[in-house]
Amino acid sequence: MTRKKSAAASVSEWTTNDLIRNAMHIQTHVMSGWCLGNCLEFTPRERLFCMLAATLPDLDGLGILAGQEVYWDYHHVLGHNLLAALVLSGLLTIFSTHRWKAFCVYLALFHLHLVLDYFGSGPGWPIVYLWPFSRWEIVNWHAWPFYSWQNITTGFAFLLWLLWIAVREGRTPLEVIMPKLDVQLVELIRRIARCSSTS
Ligand SMILES: [Zn+2]
Repeated sequence: MTRKKSAAASVSEWTTNDLIRNAMHIQTHVMSGWCLGNCLEFTPRERLFCMLAATLPDLDGLGILAGQEVYWDYHHVLGHNLLAALVLSGLLTIFSTHRWKAFCVYLALFHLHLVLDYFGSGPGWPIVYLWPFSRWEIVNWHAWPFYSWQNITTGFAFLLWLLWIAVREGRTPLEVIMPKLDVQLVELIRRIARCSSTS
């Protein structure tokens, strides 16, 4: 039994749902990419790519579809390493306008995902950062549990930031994939913001 499995087993006998949940909240990753992507001059597509760079490392969690063993063996391995960061950032950059700036930001957001996972994925879940060249592991034995106040506060802070962007910039993470809904959401958020500021 690997150290990762030992750590998890010591927590409890987890169900499949527990396994899926044992990660930083996916919506927090999405919002982190959105919020930070709005700090620089980017096109709508590049802002979408910022969210992808901050979220797609968790694609390796889809191994759960092939069973718990596959999930244990490959989550935080296949998609959470330097090579995956360079490949994903490079691919997104090909379709970006501001090439070098975009590449650097995608790379940074990918690593922000790793940092959030390091702190928020529960104790003892290693990140195999140099895979496939090395099995060297980054482990935080004191990471926050999934339903910790730290994880919830982090997600809430990004949500407030997202709402602020909607009011100020007039856009939400849906701007490219569902533009009509994006407009409606911005209207709604601005209306609520106006009401709460006048009341
Ligand atoms: Zn992750």
